Amino acid sequence: MRVAIAELSHETNVFSSVPTDLAAFERSGIRRGAEMVYALRGTATTIAGFLDAAERAGFTALPILAVWATPSGTVTHDAFEALAGELVDGLERAAPLDGVLLSLHGAMVAEHARDADGELLRRVRAAVGPDIPVVAVLDLHANISASMVEAADILIGYDTYPHVDQRERGREAGDLLVRLIRGEIRPAKALVKPPMLPTSQNMTTDRDPMRTLIARAHELEAMPHVLNVTVAGGFPPADVPEAGLSVLVTTDGDPPLAQELAEELGKLAWELREGFLGGVSSWDEAAQAIREVRSGPLVLVDIADNPWTGGPGDSAELLRFLLSNGVRDAALALIKDPDAVAACLAAGVGQTVELELGGKTDRLHGPPLPVRGYVRMLSDGRYVNRGPMHAGVVVDLGRSAVLVCDGVEVLVTERAESPIDLNVFRSHGIEPSERRVIALKGKGHFRAAFEPIAERVVLVEGPGITGSDLTRLPFRHIRRPIWPLDPLP
Ligand SMILES: [Zn+2]
Repeated sequence: MRVAIAELSHETNVFSSVPTDLAAFERSGIRRGAEMVYALRGTATTIAGFLDAAERAGFTALPILAVWATPSGTVTHDAFEALAGELVDGLERAAPLDGVLLSLHGAMVAEHARDADGELLRRVRAAVGPDIPVVAVLDLHANISASMVEAADILIGYDTYPHVDQRERGREAGDLLVRLIRGEIRPAKALVKPPMLPTSQNMTTDRDPMRTLIARAHELEAMPHVLNVTVAGGFPPADVPEAGLSVLVTTDGDPPLAQELAEELGKLAWELREGFLGGVSSWDEAAQAIREVRSGPLVLVDIADNPWTGGPGDSAELLRFLLSNGVRDAALALIKDPDAVAACLAAGVGQTVELELGGKTDRLHGPPLPVRGYVRMLSDGRYVNRGPMHAGVVVDLGRSAVLVCDGVEVLVTERAESPIDLNVFRSHGIEPSERRVIALKGKGHFRAAFEPIAERVVLVEGPGITGSDLTRLPFRHIRRPIWPLDPLP
């Protein structure tokens, strides 16, 4: 059995002023052929799961391409054409094929293809023909479209947020692909999309409503003739008609059962919708929580400039808050500011610099913050995640500096990534469990590593495009009416 494996994934926030061009994908790393296996085998990723399945089932995995970029603005025409073209060419060169395994996000938007994942799957289908099985794994934040469902034989979404089951879902995809190749199953799919556009600050799967929805999905998956049940929370800032929560049920040759179960789960999601709201504290409440810290750390998270929701990562508002409240013994990850990094490099370790920090990408994430800071450390910004999420994956923040401003250690970087792993601090000489306050930019993924060491977690929302307040975003393409933006009958 010859099975092509590939990844092309991007979570697109169309409200970001930073376009996602080919250079953005190159900065995050394009891995081709054997290099893909070398970099990802054994890691907590979907591709590693595909490779596990190949070993277990004895199929030959033909690695084509693995590429992603940090969430950011609309993918340019040239970037999409270059990468989709390379993927499809790779499939054609690898022929004859028995099957295709893809790792996609499901919320990619390109300039000329708003449902970019649907378009990519359509091209893959056209390249391999109607008879070669195609199975794709999607993110829990996918905006699943009818085109995606039509072009693929089976789509499988992550069941966890933080996404700690990517490798497991990759294995599941590989196992189902083998059954498809052997002609053992005939997938029948039903997609149900209630008129819901939830944001993700309360979408983590260890709490309701997602805990209940995923638990029910697993019960349904245990029924006879049910192959997969996926609940995807969706990604509002992609601003596409498909944006929002999706339920996708795949049965073995039983379309009415797929439809019935998808409708049941869709109804349950609708009933539980209020649970997706809230969860964000005011800055005053955050200041009070900091005064009440006992041993710490209090993990304080600004959700409005989350790099993994497409925030520029250069808001200085968390630091402004910590300094104006006189908070000491705090560490912050991160503020993207290449000019500030250059100034720290020019000054050198042990020197003091005066800077206008952050707030430079656009006018949506607060103004630059004037600071005077001590340059404690300079680094190449590279480290390996210890997990649980993305364990073994190398992170590259670009050249970075630890700047100490009035008792707050600030990680200033050339690139923006979400700080989801304790090693973002440890690789910079900071032990996060020993600080009174750990300040992060994130939404939900940080919880996998930081909740176990946190005395308390407090979410706040500064200015920005990635928070819970959807009325800030000038939507143009989403379905209307949609909850919670519009009144619904
Ligand atoms: Zn996600």
